[in-house]
Amino acid sequence: MNNQKNIGAVFSVIIFLLIGLGASSLFYLTSIAKEAENLYRHPYTVSNASRNININLISMHRYMKDVVYAENGYQLRAAKDLVNKYEQQAQKNFDVIFERYLGKQQDIQTVYNGFLEWKQIRDEVVFLKAQGKDQQALEISKNKEAKHVAMLTKQTEKLVHFSDNQAKLFFERAVEAKNHAITVIVSLFIITVLSSVFITYYTLRRLHKAQHDIKSRMHLIDQNILMAKFDLKGVVIDISNKLCRFLGITKHEIIGKKAHFFITDKKGEVQPEEILATASTGTSWEGELYIEDSHGLSKWIHSAVHPELNEEYEVSGYSNIIQDISDRKAIEELSITDPLTKLHNRRYFDQTIDKELRLATRNKTPLTLAIIDVDYFKKYNDHYGHPAGDQVLVRIAQLFSQSLQRPNDYVFRLGGEEFGFIFSGFCAEQSLPFLETIKTKIEQLKIEHIKSDVSPYVTISIGAYLSCNENRLDGKQLYIKADEALYEAKCQRNTVFIPNQFSFKV
Ligand code: GH3
Ligand code: MG
Ligand code: MG
Repeated sequence: MNNQKNIGAVFSVIIFLLIGLGASSLFYLTSIAKEAENLYRHPYTVSNASRNININLISMHRYMKDVVYAENGYQLRAAKDLVNKYEQQAQKNFDVIFERYLGKQQDIQTVYNGFLEWKQIRDEVVFLKAQGKDQQALEISKNKEAKHVAMLTKQTEKLVHFSDNQAKLFFERAVEAKNHAITVIVSLFIITVLSSVFITYYTLRRLHKAQHDIKSRMHLIDQNILMAKFDLKGVVIDISNKLCRFLGITKHEIIGKKAHFFITDKKGEVQPEEILATASTGTSWEGELYIEDSHGLSKWIHSAVHPELNEEYEVSGYSNIIQDISDRKAIEELSITDPLTKLHNRRYFDQTIDKELRLATRNKTPLTLAIIDVDYFKKYNDHYGHPAGDQVLVRIAQLFSQSLQRPNDYVFRLGGEEFGFIFSGFCAEQSLPFLETIKTKIEQLKIEHIKSDVSPYVTISIGAYLSCNENRLDGKQLYIKADEALYEAKCQRNTVFIPNQFSFKV
């Protein structure tokens, strides 16, 4: 975020400098153009017009001579026309000067008044000539008119001089603007170039650093995080080295192949297709899986499969983040395992009973809880010793485990010489012979028990109760009922008792 701000700021500086460069170039170009226009519109035009007036005056004076020396009416008219022609040109040039002259209007007015006076002199000469007073007309033309033209010429030269000075001023201003432009534009250009070089260098360094950071983070993830990426079909497209080591495979072996083997639960509680189906809806799937690595070693993992979205917010693949929870699971397993018999203990029974009852209710199947107690076990211990008693418990536990092997069969050591079974799918008529077989098998182990009143061998009593569609119970209620049934069985010993159904007694 900060990086973005910094890069934004440095590019703003460059943009600001470029705007400054453009604006100042425009400003100086405009002022130079303005001075050039001034130069053209004013002094240049006024100077030309003044020079033209001079030429007109000389021509007028020259054709005034023709007027004076005209020998007939035709010559006089022709000469007068030429004088008039130049007089009109002079008038036009005066109009231009009046419009464009940048000095005092009074200066032009003075010259113009002189021009008007000359007109009067001309008229006088023409009049005298018309009267036939050629000599007088010649006198005026030679003296008065010639002097007046000379004076006017001088005055117009002053205008030319003023205009030249004005032109010089405009030119100097244009040169000054050009010099300023060069200084400012060159300075700005140098600052812009230097800033751009510095900013480019700075930005590239930041980018390089950011790339380096990303690479080292990627390396850190690759070496320390168990993660993989799949396409929509669940084919691995990327996998971290850490996960490869964890699974005992190489990247080469797994990339391009289905990821099913590390999202397949060995316990079968969830299928890979279910996981991908959940993630394909845009929701993450999370859960614990019991998996097998490539060497056949079982591991517990916490797996999170997150959908990855493309720019159109459609699911384009999945990322899988895994945690190895084998150690935690081992500790958990220890806490629910009886160390002597290796059966699950009372704690696990408490965790399981309600869960299995809910499942049985959902599946509408009966669920049997049986509580098993060894007969006259105190006497056994007293006679054969406690360690021998322990061995009896281990052998009984082994037989129980071998007898209950369906996926939802459970055997627990509930405490002391008391055990518990949970199994589903059997009605009372099926549970009774099943439990009876187990009871018989224990006696058939022929573990000597000379202190027993019911058999020469170690025997057990079983009390059982069913939670079925007609009578759904919770864990506590079912336990009490099964315990009461055991109490009944204990009246006989070496007996299986299931209340409200029937009892079986040897
Ligand atoms: P009943 O037929 O009425 O069940 O008589 P019982 O002697 O089996 O019943 P009681 O509850 O009086 O005695 C249970 C005995 O189980 C007491 C104890 O010495 C023994 N026991 C409990 N836990 C263990 C154990 O871990 N190892 C051994 N060896 N004996 C145990
Ligand atoms: Mg007991
Ligand atoms: Mg007992």
